[in-house]
Parts: sequence; C-alpha cells; structure tokens
Amino acid sequence: MPLPFFKERLELVKIGRIVFEAGLTDSHGGNISIRCGNYIVIKKSGKMLGYLTPEDFVVTTLEENEELDRFASIELKVHRAIYRELPEVKAILHAHSPYTVACSLLFDSIVPIDSEGKLLLGEVPVLSAQEVVSSDEVAKKIPELLKTSPAAIIKSHGPFTIGRTPEEALKYLSALENSCKILSIFRALNKRS
Ligand SMILES: [Zn+2]
Repeated sequence: MPLPFFKERLELVKIGRIVFEAGLTDSHGGNISIRCGNYIVIKKSGKMLGYLTPEDFVVTTLEENEELDRFASIELKVHRAIYRELPEVKAILHAHSPYTVACSLLFDSIVPIDSEGKLLLGEVPVLSAQEVVSSDEVAKKIPELLKTSPAAIIKSHGPFTIGRTPEEALKYLSALENSCKILSIFRALNKRS
C-alpha cells in the first residue's frame, strides 16, 4: 500500500530544506513531523533533513507501535509525547541551531532582546536533562513547557518548536535562532566597549 499523506510529506520536505539551508541545523541533525488525525508522519532515522524525499518518512500512530516505529527518527518519543499532551499542536520541528544551543549553555531561559523575538517568543524555557538525545526524561518534561511557549530548548542539544502547520513551527525555530544570534552579538560587542 502506498504511504498516505503525500501532500503533507511534500510540505515537510520543503520545510526541512529551508531549515538546513538557513543554517538552522547540521547535515544529519534535526527532525520534523506532522500530525494527521490519529497518525504521526515523521522523518525516517538517518535521513538528512535538508535533502528529504517524500519517501523518507514513517507514518505511525499516536499510540506506540513497535512495527511502525522501527524506522522512525530517534526523537519520535518526544514528538509523540507532545502530540499526545497538546492536541492543538499539528507540527513539530527539532534542530541543532548553533546560536540557540550556545545560549542554552549560558542561560536558564532565553529572553529575547530584539523586538521581533519579544513579540513572537516571549521567554523561552531551557530544559536541563541527564539524557538529552532520544530521552524519556525530555519526553516526559517538554510537553508541560510547550503549554506556555511555542519553543523549548534542550540544554546543549537544541530546540523543539511547535505549530498548527510546519511553517509555523519553522517561524518559531527561525525567530529563536535569530534572537539568540542577536543576543550573542550584543553580548560580545558589549564586552568590547
Ligand atoms: Zn537532536
């Protein structure tokens, strides 16, 4: 049977390419998913986010499904936990955005100093966890943080952002990286003056 949700997979391909081309993640880092009713469409493990084809996805269920989950991104457990606790969330992005990761090592939460970041993001929480990759702890704790913020950052690892569409999740991922970049430049310039 052909894989369903072709239109949605095409959209994820497009957004994944933008994330990589905008320098928001590394070649093999990051993942993307969309919720379609009781199904989750998520990137396959090991595929490069910037060079996906519509075949590079797994369609699995909101409930754990050993058979379908086998080839999914290792962060499926985090995506699934978010979808299960936040029914209004339709898309999730995760990336290893360099300025965002750097700032997560310095701050307990990110408070943008630029006006766009303030408006779009407000204060973004940083989650400090023992295990940071494919982590049960992150899956347990991150949905709560995303109830009040469109983005949350795993310290030393990277942000998860949510939206009603993949493009909205991209908007928050991009705004967060921009805000962290501005914050980093501002602090560096301030030290020199
Ligand atoms: Zn990651």
